[in-house]
Amino acid sequence: MAAALAMALFRCFGAGRTAVGKGDDSEAAGAEHAAIRVASAPYQGGGNLPHDATAETLKPATPYLKRTGDGRPFLQGSRCRTCGETFLGTRQHCARCHARDSMELVELGSHGKLYNYTVVHRSYPGTTVPFVSAIVDLETGGSLKGNLIDIDPDTLSFDMPVEVVFRGAEIANPAGRGFISHFFIPAKERQAA
Ligand SMILES: [Zn+2]
Repeated sequence: MAAALAMALFRCFGAGRTAVGKGDDSEAAGAEHAAIRVASAPYQGGGNLPHDATAETLKPATPYLKRTGDGRPFLQGSRCRTCGETFLGTRQHCARCHARDSMELVELGSHGKLYNYTVVHRSYPGTTVPFVSAIVDLETGGSLKGNLIDIDPDTLSFDMPVEVVFRGAEIANPAGRGFISHFFIPAKERQAA
């Protein structure tokens, strides 16, 4: 149950979605968001986050959340050696140029832009609401869904810079073992290179 829930919550989006025209849709999407946000309540953050994300006992909530040898969590993707397109997770073939056996595993970056979002006010029993379900396009390529936390929903804006963080999720398996998941937070100022 917990694993299925995690997969539903953190379902990834492939490159096909980015082919959708964003400019023409943003006005309609904005109206939809306004309707959703009518009943907004004081935002409590991303729910209870009781676990230390660095705790290595936490199980990754998604198959593309990996750890380095020293335990640092990161998002893993696949990059096409033929056309350079990057996707979330493991791929055998490129969905852009259709090259076969041309994919290499890469570590995805920790910064991106908010592509779209929904403020969720009703969810499964035990899940803290409201929370912001977001789709983020990473700077390194790859797009994914996750919860945007540490932000007032009234301050959300499309294309705002966000950062990937890893924290304990408010879900656990029947044995009580916790999960680590990716979340998004508003990006902090970055030092010029
Ligand atoms: Zn390709």
